[in-house]
Amino acid sequence: MLYKNLSSYLKEKYGGRMKKICIDGGFTCPNRDGTLGIGGCIYCSERGSGEHIDASVSIKDQVQRALANAADNDKCIAYFQNFTNTYAPISVLKARYDAALIDSRIRILAIGTRPDCIDGDIADLIASYKDRVDVWVELGLQTASDKTAEIINRGYKTEKYLEACSILHSRGIPTVTHIMIGLPGEGDRELEETLDTLDLSGTWGVKIHSVYVAKGTRLGKMCLEGSYTPISREDYVRRAAYAISRLPEKVIHRITGDCPKELLLAPEWNTDKNGVIRDINERLSAILSE
Ligand code: SF4
Repeated sequence: MLYKNLSSYLKEKYGGRMKKICIDGGFTCPNRDGTLGIGGCIYCSERGSGEHIDASVSIKDQVQRALANAADNDKCIAYFQNFTNTYAPISVLKARYDAALIDSRIRILAIGTRPDCIDGDIADLIASYKDRVDVWVELGLQTASDKTAEIINRGYKTEKYLEACSILHSRGIPTVTHIMIGLPGEGDRELEETLDTLDLSGTWGVKIHSVYVAKGTRLGKMCLEGSYTPISREDYVRRAAYAISRLPEKVIHRITGDCPKELLLAPEWNTDKNGVIRDINERLSAILSE
């Protein structure tokens, strides 16, 4: 194994593969509802990710539908994916998380959110689920560069991310940090800064995404106007392999971005997920044997 990856971790801890149930919890985002802004991050699609999820049904029904295809001995992760899944009053959060935990096959509650939507009360609520299931919180950092954060309209400073990690870790809640490679204006120096920040934060897991341009986004407009050029496949492979080699203690949850084909504007290589993963593994193998 070239690096600690999620499937090996899950196999070791739970005895096999786990089924991920992606949930649209009906949340919005302060960067889209007018609290911080209305446009959101420049790459954010209309559904705030999780485009494949049928959000027309309740959380309970989304989970039940997914479980209908699961075997009796399957183990599952309930993953609140779309938008900002800690952005609501505590009572609402509790009702929505409870609605997902309806079956003993669900062993992990995973919650995706923004660092500036974590506080002590929210962390206490999430920690309260630890006697029923394992929990982790996924934080969308994307970059440690505050300069890039302004360009992408992230809406918070990197110190907020470190604060959120500290609040969550102090309650024994592991974090998974999302980073993006190929953001506007970013090169090797910014990646280095981001990797240093991951080390500093004590995050347990990392999701590495290649920046893809989805139709209808502000990044899409920049791309069509020529003010943003998507990262090349070669550059992405090189930087992603380097990033993984720099994070030997982290559990790497993913190493590519994944845009639904019908939404993808660029880069075209984004559709060759398996090929990109193969190339990253080859490159990583070369780095590790140097
Ligand atoms: S924080 Fe997430 S959901 Fe909110 S605008 Fe940015 S990408 Fe979209």
